[in-house]
Amino acid sequence: MRTSGSRLNSVRCATALTASGWKNNCVIEFDASGRIQSLREDSQSDVDLILKGTVIAGIPNLHSHAHQKVITGLTEHRIAGQDDFWGWREVMYRANARLDPEQLQTIARYLYIDMLLKGYTSVAEFHYLHHQPDGTPYSDLSEMSAQLLQAASEAGIAITLLPVLYCRGGFKDEPVQDSQHRFFNDPERYLALLESCHSLCANNPDRSLGFAAHSLRAVSPSAMSSTIKAAGPMLEGAPIHIHVAEQMREVNDCLEINGARPVAWLYDQCDVNDRWCLVHATHVDPQEQTLLAQSQAIVGLCPTTEANLGDGIFPAAELMNSNGFLGVGSDSQVCTSPAEELRLLEYSQRFSLQRRTVLVPDEAGSNGRALITAAIIGGNRARGESLAGLQPGARGDLVEIGSDHVEFAGRSPDQILDTWIFSGPDNPVQNVVAGGRHVVHDGIHPAMESASRAYREMVNALDLS
Ligand SMILES: [Zn+2]
Repeated sequence: MRTSGSRLNSVRCATALTASGWKNNCVIEFDASGRIQSLREDSQSDVDLILKGTVIAGIPNLHSHAHQKVITGLTEHRIAGQDDFWGWREVMYRANARLDPEQLQTIARYLYIDMLLKGYTSVAEFHYLHHQPDGTPYSDLSEMSAQLLQAASEAGIAITLLPVLYCRGGFKDEPVQDSQHRFFNDPERYLALLESCHSLCANNPDRSLGFAAHSLRAVSPSAMSSTIKAAGPMLEGAPIHIHVAEQMREVNDCLEINGARPVAWLYDQCDVNDRWCLVHATHVDPQEQTLLAQSQAIVGLCPTTEANLGDGIFPAAELMNSNGFLGVGSDSQVCTSPAEELRLLEYSQRFSLQRRTVLVPDEAGSNGRALITAAIIGGNRARGESLAGLQPGARGDLVEIGSDHVEFAGRSPDQILDTWIFSGPDNPVQNVVAGGRHVVHDGIHPAMESASRAYREMVNALDLS
């Protein structure tokens, strides 16, 4: 299967949310690498594609574990004594143990197409399933990474590959468990993996590379800092991701062993700046909130996964009020819709604060538009993209909401976004352009049928019951 489609030269959008507000008859031209070259109001000139609906920039998915897709729905049966995050993790580990490279590619291809259909146009893949089931490395260290990159190319989604460093079983430098051998690398072998991934991403505008530490449990701050330094130019300006403070057990362990809460300890030990994406950061106190906002790090929120796993609620209103950055991700893949993530993000704040329209940074404004804008800016930063939204230099990622749907009747563009996020039809995404390629046509991705068939056969053969 080849890479999805050739790039368009130009698109005209009847109504588009650009970086400087709503524009009508907006012609967007792309360069050869799929970035936006120019953007102007023009109802005359010939273009390759006309989008008659309501167009927004594509939303980045800043946190994904593709392999976890296969266990969605299989962890909702209560088992005595195991109905928490740690019991879920055991089920996930058992499923992980079975996946081979071809199966991982089959999962990722289906999943990434599904993301495009819902309005994500790029994905940051936090990838830690590196080795064979018994922990022996594949002859090519980046065998599993290559499957994810290939799947993304075939789907037509931009990918930021985040090979994950995982070098210990707990805060006290415990060895990894048997079920974690597939993840394990010491810093030396990790650097070899990173080098291989770096060459797989080079010279491809739809691929980029970043660094990820699994968590403070799995990587000491000193190992993190020395590995990033040793990677040198491979990680220059690249994003740095880490899971942090997702569960209270982690907070309590960190307090007991290091005398500080995880986020505070991370800031104490590492130079956390605007290249960092702190995934979850669920349990933070006011001092840690200040650190997050002042450092301009991005908080990577995955509301449906955080709800599913019983993590807790991140106090997002405080972050937004202090001009901090956030974005959303699909994480465990219980949901692949950015609209649903943003709805739950807002609703979780309403539940806890007993207020409405919480995550709007200004005195007044559309809640849906504010959530989408925050996710586009934060998500792009978490992928190492300095420009976001529809403007020259940003990636040519466009999502068209089909505004002729009956439920959008009588709505202004802002109200169409509000209706989509809070009460809209199931999936009103009509057309998607990713990196200048027209990948979703009138709600259909041309490779979805074959990808679904392959996914179904593979999952049936896995026998996960
Ligand atoms: Zn995660």
